[in-house]
Amino acid sequence: MVAGNDTESHSNGVSGHTNGVQLPALSTSAEDFLRHNYDYIIIGGGTAGLAIAARLTENPDVSVGVLEAGGNKLGDIMVDCPAMTLQTFSNPDYDWKFKTVPQKHNKEKIHHVIRGKALGGSSAINHMMYVRGSLQDYDDWATIADDPSWGAESMKYYMRRHQTLEPIDEKVVDRATMPFVGEHHGTSGPVRTSFNESFLPIEHDFIKACDEVTGMSKKPTDPWSGDHIGFFNTLGAVCRTGPNKGKRAYAARGYFAANAERPNLHVLCNAPVTSIELDGDRATGVKFTFEGSKQKVRMSREVIVCCGVLQSPQILELSGIGDPDVLQAAGVECKIQNKAVGANFQDHATSGLCWEVNQGNPTLEIIYDPSVMEAAQKQMMEHGNGPLTNIISTQGFFPYKLFASESEQASTVKSIEDSLDTVTPFQRKQYERIIAHLKDNKSANLQMLLIPSTAGPEKGAQDQAYLFPPHTPGTPMGITAVVCLQYPVSRGTVHITSSDPNEHPRIDPAFLSHPADAAVLAAGLKMTDQVGKSKHLADKISKRLFPSPETNLQDTKQATEAVHDFVLSEYHPCGSVALGDAIDTKLVVKGTKNVRVADASIFPNHVSGNIVSSVYAVAEKAADIIKADWDYAALAKATAG
Ligand SMILES: Cc1cc2nc3c(=O)[nH]c(=O)nc-3n(C[C@H](O)[C@H](O)[C@H](O)COP(=O)(O)OP(=O)(O)OC[C@H]3O[C@@H](n4cnc5c(N)ncnc54)[C@H](O)[C@@H]3O)c2cc1C
Repeated sequence: MVAGNDTESHSNGVSGHTNGVQLPALSTSAEDFLRHNYDYIIIGGGTAGLAIAARLTENPDVSVGVLEAGGNKLGDIMVDCPAMTLQTFSNPDYDWKFKTVPQKHNKEKIHHVIRGKALGGSSAINHMMYVRGSLQDYDDWATIADDPSWGAESMKYYMRRHQTLEPIDEKVVDRATMPFVGEHHGTSGPVRTSFNESFLPIEHDFIKACDEVTGMSKKPTDPWSGDHIGFFNTLGAVCRTGPNKGKRAYAARGYFAANAERPNLHVLCNAPVTSIELDGDRATGVKFTFEGSKQKVRMSREVIVCCGVLQSPQILELSGIGDPDVLQAAGVECKIQNKAVGANFQDHATSGLCWEVNQGNPTLEIIYDPSVMEAAQKQMMEHGNGPLTNIISTQGFFPYKLFASESEQASTVKSIEDSLDTVTPFQRKQYERIIAHLKDNKSANLQMLLIPSTAGPEKGAQDQAYLFPPHTPGTPMGITAVVCLQYPVSRGTVHITSSDPNEHPRIDPAFLSHPADAAVLAAGLKMTDQVGKSKHLADKISKRLFPSPETNLQDTKQATEAVHDFVLSEYHPCGSVALGDAIDTKLVVKGTKNVRVADASIFPNHVSGNIVSSVYAVAEKAADIIKADWDYAALAKATAG
C-alpha cells in the first residue's frame, strides 16, 4: 500500500488500444459504437456490468453494447499494481469523488465516498480483499426478498462460477492462517484469487492476539464456505500465474479483456449515460454523451442498469422512475412511481484503533525506505511478486455477544425492536434478520482488519487520499486495527436533487443514526483494545495514537463516544435499489417491463464481509436470469413448435 497522489496518470482513453494491443470490442468513437444493433444496452461497465456483458455475449446471436462513463485503464500500473491502490483515491481519473451530506452522528463530518470511474468500476480501484458472506446472509436475502432462488445454495454456485483459486506459492510453508478446502472454490472463473506470498511478523502476532482475546483459536475450515468466524489471512483478487502475474484481477481484465475478440460485444468508454428513454413502461433506448456531443442508442430487448449503488438510483431517477416527491423536487417528470428507488441505502460502518510500534517491528510503511522500495519494484517488474503485489490480508469475524454484557445485548436488541413499527414492511423483515444475528453466538456481527500502517483519522474521512499518509523514513511506524459493523441498522438514502446528470446525487449514509450500530461498534472497540494489550502484541506496541490513550475503551460510554468521533465507510454501500422492494426477484424495476438493475444496489440486506464477491455472484445470476427469459424461453418455444 503506497500513498500519495503525485504519480502521473496513464489513462488509455477511448483509443481502443491497451498498451499497444488493440481490443476489437472497444469502440473508438460514438459513431463506431452506433454502427451496431443491440439487443441489450448495459449502462455502466463496472464490476457487475462487464460480468453480465461477458456472460450474455457467450451467445453469438445476441448483441450487447456497454456504455461506461470512465476511461479504459487496462495496462495502467496504478490499477494493475496492488500497492498503488491508494494513489487512485481522490484522483478524478479513477474516482468519482462523491461526498456525503454532513453526518449528524459523526460530528457533522462530510465523508468522501470513493467509487471507481473506469472500465471495471470499483473493482479497478478496490482493496482486492476476496471475502464472501455467510450462508445465513444469502438465506436472509431469500427470506427478505421472498424468493428461495436467492438463497445460499444458488449463491454458492455463482461464487464458484466467477472465481479461480490460484495455487499457493511453494515458498509459503507456514499455511496455518490460510485455511481452504478446494470444493468451495472455482477453478475456471474470470476472477483470479490468491493468498499473499509473504507476511509481516506482526500480522501473525495480530492473529494470535485476536485468537486469544476471543478464545476462538480454531481456524475456520474454509472462510469461503459460508462460515468465516475466526481470524485468518484472506484471499485477494491478484493473479499469481500467467502473463498478468502480480497484477490486480478485476472485471475489466477477467470478464472484458478476455472476451474482447467477440464480434457481438461493444464497449464505449468515457460515455456517461444521461437517461433511459421510455415509451410508457418500456425502455426503448438510452441517451448518453461522448466528447461533448449528445447521442442516443436503441436496443431491442432490455436496458440493464449497472451503475453501482449511487448511480443506479441516479439514472433511474433522471429517467423519471422513482419517488414522485424526490423527482418533483429535482424538476424531473415522474413517469413511473417507485418509492423504493434510492431508499434503503446501507453501509458497513467502521471504527478503529491505531498504535505506534516499537523499533524492530516493520510494518507496510517500511516500503517508504528508498532501498526497500527499489528492491520491491525490481521484484515486481522481474518476477511479478513481492510486497507490491500483496493485499491487506489479515482479518477475521467475531460475534457481538462476546464483548457485550447481557444487559447491553438486551438493550441493543430492544432498541431495534422498538424501531420495528417505524420502518417499512420490507425493512421490518431486514431488522428481524439483524436481531436474529445479534442473538446468535456464531454470527459474524463484526469484522476485524489489520492495516499495518499508521492511519490519519483527522482528514481521512473527508478525503480518503489522507487516510494512510506517506511515512517519513526514520520516524516510528504504526498499525491500525479496523473494526467493521456487518449488519447495520441505520438506513440512508441516495437521491438526485437536480435534473442535471452532471450533478452528483445527495448521499446520506446516515452513519450511526440507529443507536444499535454504535453499540455494536463500541463492543468491537472494546475487543480491539484488548487485542492491543494481549501478550502477543503488547511488547511490540509503544503507544496508542488514537483514540487518545486517556480514553478507557473498556468503558461502554467512552467506547461509544469514540465510535461517534471516528466512523468511516468500509467502502461497502449497497441496497439502494433493493431486490424485493424497488425491483422484483428477476431484477426488473417495478413498474417497468424491460429495465433491470444488477449491481451492489440490489442487495436486499447487508452481508458479512467485503462485498465484491457478492456483486460478481449477483451479476452471474443476473445473466442467467436474463438468458432464461430470452434465449432459453425462445429455444423452448421453438422446440415446442
Ligand atoms: C476504495 C474501495 C475499496 C474497496 N475494497 C474492497 C475489497 O477489498 N473487497 C471487496 O470485496 N470489496 C471492496 N470494495 C467494494 C467493491 O469493490 C464494490 O462494492 C463493487 O466493486 C461495486 O460493484 P458495482 O458493479 O456495484 O459498481 P461499480 O463497480 O462501481 O460499477 C459502476 C460503474 O458504472 C459507471 N457509471 C456510473 N454512472 C454511469 C453513467 N451515468 N453512465 C455510464 N456509466 C456509469 C461507473 O463509472 C462504474 O464503472 C471496495 C470499494 C472501494 C470503492
